[in-house]
Amino acid sequence: MSDLQEKAARLYAIANEIATCKKCPLCNSRTRTVPGAGPANAEIMFIGEAPGFHEDQQGLPFVGRSGQYLNQLLASVGLSRKDVFIGNVVKCRPPDNRDPEQAELDACKDYLDRQIAVINPRVIITLGRFSMARYFPGARITQAHGHPRQVDGRLCFPMYHPAAVLRNPNLGPEMQADMKKVMQAIQEMKAGGQPPEQQGSEEPPEPPVQLSLF
Ligand code: SF4
Repeated sequence: MSDLQEKAARLYAIANEIATCKKCPLCNSRTRTVPGAGPANAEIMFIGEAPGFHEDQQGLPFVGRSGQYLNQLLASVGLSRKDVFIGNVVKCRPPDNRDPEQAELDACKDYLDRQIAVINPRVIITLGRFSMARYFPGARITQAHGHPRQVDGRLCFPMYHPAAVLRNPNLGPEMQADMKKVMQAIQEMKAGGQPPEQQGSEEPPEPPVQLSLF
């Protein structure tokens, strides 16, 4: 079995666990679990928040309007969905698309941790404040977006959630600039250089404050 086949098998096993998971109350309202999708050896991993209506129906991440926007963003830098793995911090849809609760985030964390360990991406792009909080605790996304840091040997790059840009199109240019910035950082990493900002494990650029909406 090749390394890729082994990784895919391990991801499949995790997805099977998720499919029958009852570790938090979201299991009661979900239609389908959404474990994530993409190549098992992806160098870039996007982490969003939680499945919405369409994701819950199809069992796939980012297939609604946010997904269409994300596809456009990827295409703008020469990428497509087949190049990246996309997952969420919780694998089941919260009722009425409410924010995931801390107990739900905690219950679901192990699945994402294990997916990251299997895929071992060089770059993690967080989409929105909930996935950002994994790597930038206490940061405000309005200030932290676009400012990467190294965590556990990976470049972690916070970006707005596509849904936030759809609600506020004024964020579009910043989102586009962040996407170009992350691609530049990846190219520099591959060339043996250093990411553009936030070397080492220092804290994010702003002091811890209460999380804000996106
Ligand atoms: S959200 Fe995560 S922890 Fe909760 S039931 Fe779904 S898979 Fe299990």
